[in-house]
Amino acid sequence: MEAYPARPTKLGDLAIWRALPRRARRTIGPWCFLDRYGPLTFSEGRAMDVAPHPHIGIQTVSWLLDGEVLHQDSLGIEAMVRPRGVNVTTSGAGIAHAEQTPSANRGRLHGVQLWAALPDEHRNVASSFQHIDEVPAIELRGGVAQILVGDSSPALQFSESIGADLEIHRGASVDMPLDVCFEHGFMLLFGDAFIDEQLLDPDTLYYRGAGSDELHVRSTSGARLLIIGGVPFLEPILMWWNFVARTPEEIARARSKWQAGDFGVVRGYDGAPIPAPSLSRLAPPNPAS
Ligand code: MN
Repeated sequence: MEAYPARPTKLGDLAIWRALPRRARRTIGPWCFLDRYGPLTFSEGRAMDVAPHPHIGIQTVSWLLDGEVLHQDSLGIEAMVRPRGVNVTTSGAGIAHAEQTPSANRGRLHGVQLWAALPDEHRNVASSFQHIDEVPAIELRGGVAQILVGDSSPALQFSESIGADLEIHRGASVDMPLDVCFEHGFMLLFGDAFIDEQLLDPDTLYYRGAGSDELHVRSTSGARLLIIGGVPFLEPILMWWNFVARTPEEIARARSKWQAGDFGVVRGYDGAPIPAPSLSRLAPPNPAS
């Protein structure tokens, strides 16, 4: 397996780990972005406060191990995601949303946010939002796989892919079937785990190319492992800030549209939207996620 240590960065005031994209690994299946935050506890204030910001060309998938995150968007939808549930935002040609710890919260936060790039033929689908209160859970010998995105999940998807959270019981081994046509990424979210007797480092994304039909994983103390995968995404994508596009002109148009207020208003959020960074910046700006 190839190993890609995540890099520490900031999401507002929140310290997070960004596992995708990396210079040497831009996508795994359609997955083009992976942030991991927490586990953390807080006694006052809100751990996450990401003001309204736009997306194009992707689906965002929010998955929590602990705590809660409130989603509000320019379609007028408001939905709280909690452990076992998932929030899926399909931007299509454009949506704006805000994500924050609700004011009534458990004082804990631990989760991931994923983006799936939309294939060209679906990039301009109507924007939509989907909340699934409880994703399907598949019992395996030695563990349980919760399927965020994939064949057994009702989550809307536009290319063949999987997003799963595999719990490996203490002292157990799990053989999880994989789609042989998919490439996969694995990231330890909790506990300790070995894949094919390789001990996984925390906050590291492991990559395996297409061609394996089973994952062999075991844990001494019990573990949670994030699994992402899909048919390799062959369309070249251009990521800038919160936009996933194909050309710089398309990025510039989306930026102007956001600056002109044409993505719609996130009415539920109390505060100003995030201004787009300057296009003249040489380094790609941090997404708001
Ligand atoms: Mn976002």
